[in-house]
Amino acid sequence: MQRIEWKKKDSRNVMETVEQCGVPYLSFPVLEETGLVTHGFSTRLGGVSEGVYASMNFSFTRGDEPEHVRENYRRMAKALGVEAESMVLTYQTHTVNIRRTGKEDRGKGVFRERDYRDIDGLVTDEPGVTLVTFFADCVPLYFLDPVRHAIGLSHSGWRGTVGKIGKITVERMGEEFGSKPEDIIACIGPSICKDCFEVGEEVVELFAKAFPSKIHDRLFSPNGKPGKYQLDLWEANREILLEAGIRPERLQVTNLCTCCNPDYLYSHRKMGEKRGNLCAFLALKEE
Ligand SMILES: [Zn+2]
Repeated sequence: MQRIEWKKKDSRNVMETVEQCGVPYLSFPVLEETGLVTHGFSTRLGGVSEGVYASMNFSFTRGDEPEHVRENYRRMAKALGVEAESMVLTYQTHTVNIRRTGKEDRGKGVFRERDYRDIDGLVTDEPGVTLVTFFADCVPLYFLDPVRHAIGLSHSGWRGTVGKIGKITVERMGEEFGSKPEDIIACIGPSICKDCFEVGEEVVELFAKAFPSKIHDRLFSPNGKPGKYQLDLWEANREILLEAGIRPERLQVTNLCTCCNPDYLYSHRKMGEKRGNLCAFLALKEE
């Protein structure tokens, strides 16, 4: 196994690094322990892409060889223990739109054309359907309702966070599957940390409007440069999920930053456009 030395923001072991079939990926023990789902968050390692895409790139739209990307999906599927054909991809454009998906969507985005667009979150209650979302600093949100056997997976960049896509996903699981927020296990995955995420006043103003003033100090702080702030997307998403009714003891927040770990993770802030994409994966196991 390749030795990975994560730079963590604190000493907690929120996520585990596992390696299967030569592919290392990150996993939340709190999801794994339920025995209900297969899930993971990819790293840059274990794939076949080259150059700035090296090596586990999942994006078909950044200039990488499509055959390499497809092979990366096959490798990741094998490592996770799901069928590559079971994967259903989002069509991310920083919206707060959620799609209820199912077996009819299997393979869309990898082996078949997607017949939808502007979708930043997926929910399903069907086993054999692997939800897939893309990242390179934005925040992955995993949801499992162990009572109704339903799942959700969302992409929460700063725009999605202002729009509270996390809360919208929880509400949608309620509408579609009868999920109660207090039953749901939620995990906030690897993404950019507050120290690495500088934003301008125009972004901070949107956050100031979207969140109660008593928590503003925790979400953003001026960094000494004129009109510049450090913004905490982990804390903002934690607040959103608590507001949505998730119980604190069922909510996990990562301590792994994509920008602090460029050897293992792609980061837009660190690499700009010359990079690949990471993915989050989540599927209900067949009963
Ligand atoms: Zn960082």
